[in-house]
Amino acid sequence: GPAIVWFRDDLRVADHPALHAALEHERPIVAIYILDEESPGVRPLGGAARWWLHQSLRSLTASLEALGGRLILRRGAAGPIIADLVRETDAAAVFWNRRYGLAERTLDTAIKHDLRAGGVDAHSYAGSLLFEPWTIQTGQGGSYSVFTPFWRACTAGPPPRAPFPAPSAIPGWTGEIASDEVDGWGLEPSAPDWAAGLRATWEPGEASAQAVLATFLAESLPHYARDRDEPAQNATSHLSPHLRWGEISPHQVWAATQTAQRDLTGPALTSATRFLTEIGWREFAYHVLFHAPDLATKNLRPAFDAFPWPPLDHEALAAWQQGRTGFGLIDAGMRELWRTGSMHNRVRMVTASFLIKNMLVDWREGERWFWDTLVDADAASNPFGWQWVAGSGADAAPYFRIFNPDLQAAKFDPRQQYIRDNVTEYGTNAYPAPLVDLGETRRAALAAYERVKNPA
Ligand code: FAD
Repeated sequence: GPAIVWFRDDLRVADHPALHAALEHERPIVAIYILDEESPGVRPLGGAARWWLHQSLRSLTASLEALGGRLILRRGAAGPIIADLVRETDAAAVFWNRRYGLAERTLDTAIKHDLRAGGVDAHSYAGSLLFEPWTIQTGQGGSYSVFTPFWRACTAGPPPRAPFPAPSAIPGWTGEIASDEVDGWGLEPSAPDWAAGLRATWEPGEASAQAVLATFLAESLPHYARDRDEPAQNATSHLSPHLRWGEISPHQVWAATQTAQRDLTGPALTSATRFLTEIGWREFAYHVLFHAPDLATKNLRPAFDAFPWPPLDHEALAAWQQGRTGFGLIDAGMRELWRTGSMHNRVRMVTASFLIKNMLVDWREGERWFWDTLVDADAASNPFGWQWVAGSGADAAPYFRIFNPDLQAAKFDPRQQYIRDNVTEYGTNAYPAPLVDLGETRRAALAAYERVKNPA
């Protein structure tokens, strides 16, 4: 029988360890993607993520067909679907790249167990992380909660493996088999169609991911360290959604950056190291998620459970979500997010700090909004980022470090270019008055934080 390759967060054909291994078995390939909104504990995708997935599946379908294969699409609980597919095709083996959330791991372990019990081979591979979370351990054999020693431990060991080349052909299984149409899944918004800005900003898919990486390495890598904090500069890689969906692997990013940095010296070489360190933060977020599966809902530091969040002010939350707070950098960021499905990292930090510390809104509200609106919404990096800003997380900014959005704007957007690009009415009468008093809310936040330090 054929070999099934189950695609999940790895929508690419090059450097795909599971596909690579399946091809070595020299069996015909059945490639499948399952839209699983039924298995227990699997977090439903947000709106922007669904838009991205739709485009990315179209792209993967085309790449597989160009190589002689075919992508089967099914919707429902993954366990029964894999079992059906094995029965329908009489498959001999199933291959996949690992996932790291608890619900996904539990599901994958159960499926592997059932397959093997039924006499079907099942194999999983490391495709989405450079360092498998359980392989990086402290001297005491535990997990890391601080980034610097974590990354030191990662980089002290053997370097990440070299990427596998793209296959030259994929012998598709020729039996008859039913597949959904991606257009029938309703992943794209219709009425209203809010995705125009996403379409104008992004091109999902493996080929585009490679092009984005090449452009970044050629044009921006040498100045990355200097410019990466300024949202008006086009200084960062824009790889995050491509990495989130596995259209490119961190191994490919790593290897290409190693090659590019051979020609660099001085600050440009420092920039390359800095960029790879950011890839390290992604690894760290997954390390933390692996060891704290409730990252999106539970304070990593339990002391934060004592934080006295006031009752939620829904109108104020809506003002933040829609970029109507009267603070230029905040509103620019929130509007960029709504329009493009992304936001510059510096501005993510400042908008998150503003929500948590100047509006006293529980970080989980912000995490949910980002989850729904970001094209790179990631089960590890998003809650990790929110807990980092809140001060409740791993290696977090201390709670009492409260960004002043006006000072942040003056420092990182000195010509107000980013603000004006995103908030056209900025500085006119049409622009809203400030939602909060920065000094007063800062004092209130610090008073509330006392409860974390000295719980009643
Ligand atoms: P670059 O600067 O080019 O960095 C290269 C890659 O490194 C990124 O693509 C990303 O994969 C990784 N990376 C960089 N910074 C971080 C970081 N702080 N944490 C984890 N990985 C990082 N990133 C996501 O991918 N998904 C999210 O859902 C997400 N939510 C965030 C929420 C908050 C509140 C904050 C403060 C940060 C969040 N980040 C998230 C991290 C970071 O903002 C984005 O990865 C970055 O802005 C993406 O732009 P880039 O690809 O141009 O980054």
